[in-house]
Amino acid sequence: MKKEDFSRLKKILIQKRSFLLRADSDMANDIKEETMNRHGDDVDVAESDYGQAMTFLMKNRCQDELSYIDEAIVRIDNGEYGMCAECGDKIIKKRLEVMPYSILCIECQEGSEKSRV
Ligand SMILES: [Zn+2]
Repeated sequence: MKKEDFSRLKKILIQKRSFLLRADSDMANDIKEETMNRHGDDVDVAESDYGQAMTFLMKNRCQDELSYIDEAIVRIDNGEYGMCAECGDKIIKKRLEVMPYSILCIECQEGSEKSRV
């Protein structure tokens, strides 16, 4: 990859990061409001429980993604970006274009997903 590619991907990562940070604090507010408005009949409570669980799930996912992005940005800064964190192989550019925060090559990513199951 060229130097321009790195700075372009870094820009994308920083943009995505600020978007996620905003979404994250919005969700935190939603959860707070839901908890504060907790009165009403059982159906309301059940529905807001469900909504809150979904928000929690999305918030978790958002935070996972943020930590990947942070790691990718650090790797760009210290010149390790584009190499697999596990085996050290080059990560193909096409993969980075689609998922700029990938720190594993496809093989290692698939391997780690399999071992998690
Ligand atoms: Zn690898």
